[in-house]
Amino acid sequence: MELNYLECIACGSREDIQTNSYQCSKCGDLLEVKYDIESLKEIVDPKRWTGSLRVWRYKEMMPLKDGSKIITMNEGGTNLVDCDNLQSMFKISSLRVKNEGENPTGSFKDRGMTVGVSRAVEQGAKVVICASTGNTASSAAAYAARAGMRCVVIVPSRAIALGKLAQATIHGAEVVQVKGNFDQSLKMVLDFANRHKEIYLLNSLNPFRLEGQRSLAFEVCEQSNFEVPDRIIVPVGNAGNISAIWKGFSEFKELGIINELPKMTGIQAENASPIADAVKRGDDKILNVERPETVASAIRIGAPASWRKALRAIRMSGGTAEKVSDNEILEAQRLLARKEGIFTEPAGASSVAGLKKLLEQGVVDSDERVVCVCTGHGLKDPDIVMQFVKLEAEMEPEMESMERALGIASVVTR
Ligand SMILES: *Cc1c(COP(=O)(O)O)cnc(C)c1O
Ligand SMILES: [Zn+2]
Repeated sequence: MELNYLECIACGSREDIQTNSYQCSKCGDLLEVKYDIESLKEIVDPKRWTGSLRVWRYKEMMPLKDGSKIITMNEGGTNLVDCDNLQSMFKISSLRVKNEGENPTGSFKDRGMTVGVSRAVEQGAKVVICASTGNTASSAAAYAARAGMRCVVIVPSRAIALGKLAQATIHGAEVVQVKGNFDQSLKMVLDFANRHKEIYLLNSLNPFRLEGQRSLAFEVCEQSNFEVPDRIIVPVGNAGNISAIWKGFSEFKELGIINELPKMTGIQAENASPIADAVKRGDDKILNVERPETVASAIRIGAPASWRKALRAIRMSGGTAEKVSDNEILEAQRLLARKEGIFTEPAGASSVAGLKKLLEQGVVDSDERVVCVCTGHGLKDPDIVMQFVKLEAEMEPEMESMERALGIASVVTR
């Protein structure tokens, strides 16, 4: 029995772990890494995990060859922040935020990229490519730079947040804009990578990237002393992350490391909510959104690649999905910043916006222990914030002027 192999998520047929295709050769659906749990049990021992939390703490659970050259910046190990202020404001017994903006390039994408780019090295790739709403590009560019590879990123025209574009370009990626949206960009890179087998595809269709993203679940277990939270709330765009996190928890349970599983709860933006809509309809298929639109550019996706896995995760875990408006997202972004000191980009704040809504609807109970994932750093998208900023009045460089400007009366001395 092989320790790991690839399995089609739709028809279940198996492929060798060394294949360089991204889709099932029988039905064309996505491939997923699977482990022989009995063999894995023999090599995984939480007591032997040492040092700080990070993706490569779980090395034996990552599907690379022994002795592979690993391209890493110690990604992962982000704080699980106690949010006491929001907790009392929302009247919920426990609210913690997994603050993914702390990763090397400022988003959870680094957890997957370290595995994806290391796999690209293993496969002998010289060029990597991805389509991106921004953060995949930032992350791919940085890891490809460390690996000494050429990196091409395909982005929808004029739709990428400023910070993300700056990151991709400073790391030396070739950024090509498509006159179209993310869904069209993704289709183009997939067709391209299938035609040019020497070019390595770094989208979340790539099963290796998602294996790295499972580490978020592993860390939450460890940071909770293996007392699994009741619910994990995750922003959902292409739906790779929620699927990867669920896969991580499920495998920990199969290995006997944890006893419970959290309710996976996905949050999408209104007008980009095919998965939340399917959950509300009770449907096991999604209807793509032709023209997705939201302020949260990282989840502005109408045809999520991993929809099937996401629906499965939500259903199997007894979770749910909800959609939130741009106003609700921006309000949650401000709340996180002003009550907890956490600055996350709009997509990252959608999890907290969703929690607020689900509490109001009574879908989430006030006695639940909830973890919200805040997926990316707020500095990536400064334009969104500055749109609403009013700076205080200017003052003369003198005390009286300052006291007037700040509305603090002068102390009369004589
Ligand atoms: C990529 C990304 C998402 C969406 O993740 P999916 O795996 O595509 O569902 C959400 N928030 C941020 C900040 C992202 O970069
Ligand atoms: Zn198949």
